[in-house]
Amino acid sequence: MDAPAPLSERPLLSTQALWHQHLQQRLMEPPPFDPTEIRLSEAGQCPRRQTLRALGYAAALPTPRELAIFETGHWVEDRLAALWEARHPGQVNRQVTVTSPFGTGHIDLYIEPLNHIVECKTTTEKRRTELPLKSHVDQVTLYLHYWGNARGATAEIAYYIKETGNILAFPVTYDAARARELIVGLMEVQYAIQLTREPLPIPDDYQATQYPCAWYTADGLARCPYWEHCWGSSVTPMPDKKLGVVAVAPALAGDVDEYATIRQKQQALKGQLDILAVRREQLEAGFRTLLDERRAQALRAGDLTIKRTPIAGRTTVDLKAAIADGVVTEAQLQPYTVQHEGYDRWTVQQAKPRQHKQEG
Ligand code: SF4
Repeated sequence: MDAPAPLSERPLLSTQALWHQHLQQRLMEPPPFDPTEIRLSEAGQCPRRQTLRALGYAAALPTPRELAIFETGHWVEDRLAALWEARHPGQVNRQVTVTSPFGTGHIDLYIEPLNHIVECKTTTEKRRTELPLKSHVDQVTLYLHYWGNARGATAEIAYYIKETGNILAFPVTYDAARARELIVGLMEVQYAIQLTREPLPIPDDYQATQYPCAWYTADGLARCPYWEHCWGSSVTPMPDKKLGVVAVAPALAGDVDEYATIRQKQQALKGQLDILAVRREQLEAGFRTLLDERRAQALRAGDLTIKRTPIAGRTTVDLKAAIADGVVTEAQLQPYTVQHEGYDRWTVQQAKPRQHKQEG
C-alpha cells in the first residue's frame, strides 16, 4: 500500500467543503419533476411563473442560500416521515402523485392506516403567527379535491420551526369555493401554455422588489428565478460622465426613495445626538469641578444621584512609528495582523433641477 501523502499535499477537506461539494452536485442533478407540467403546489401563487416555466423560459440558477433552504426542506420531510414511520412501519407513503386535468401534485406523506395527508414545510419563528400560510392551504385544498376527498382522507400541514426545531401542525378543512377559484386559475395557466403559448402578464399588484418577485435579505436581493423575464428590462445600464455606468431602474424607484429618506433621517438624528453630547459634556465638566472641590464621588439632588467613576487612561502602541524607527519589522508583526473585511460606502445624491437658458 502507498504511503499517505504528506499533510501539506492533501486536498483541504472540511465539513464546509463537503457541504459545498454536495450543493454543487445537487445543482447538476436533473429537476425532480417535469418542468413543463403545471404544479398544483403553486396553484395559489404567481400564475405567470407557471407559464414561464412550462413554456421553457430560462430560470436563474438557485443561489447557495436557496439550495441550502431546499436541502433543509428535504431533511425536514425525512425527519417527519421517520416520526410517522416509527408509529406505522412500512405504511407511510411518500411523494404520492396527484393527477388532475389541470396539473400534477405530489403529497409529501400519506399515512395509510390513518387515511391522513401530511404536507411538510419549514418556516421561521417570526412567521409563526401567520401559520398556516395561505399558499400552503391552497396546495393541500387541491390535494384533497383531486385525491383525498374520494378516499375520505384528512389532511394537515406540519411546520418545522428552524430556530427552535419545534414542529407545529395545522389541520386543513376542505373549502369547495376556494378549490373552484384555484381550478379557474389553473385553467387560465393551461390556456396560456397550450393555446396562446404566451406567458400570462405580471399580476397588477406585484412589484419588482416585493414578495413573490423579490425581497431583501441580509445576503442581498432574493429573487424569483424568472425575475429577469419580468423586471430585468426595466433595469438598464447607462453611461454617466461622473459615475461611470449607472443602472437606471424605475422599478426600484420606491426603494431608492426609501433609502434616501432613511439616510436623511439618520443624519438628522445624528445631528441631534451631537447637540445632546455637547450639552452632556458641559454638564459633566461642571459636576467634575464641584465634586473635585468637595472631594466627593457622587452628586445628589432630590431623588437623583449621579456617580463619577474616573477611568485610567489607556496605553496604546504606535506601531507605524515603531516600524519607521526600525524597532520592529512588518514581517515580525505579520502573524498578529488581522484583515478586516472591506465594505461599501454608500452616498445619496439628488439630481439638481435643470436651469433653462433664458431666451432673448
Ligand atoms: S418575477 Fe414576479 S411576476 Fe415574474 S414570475 Fe416571478 S413572481 Fe411572477
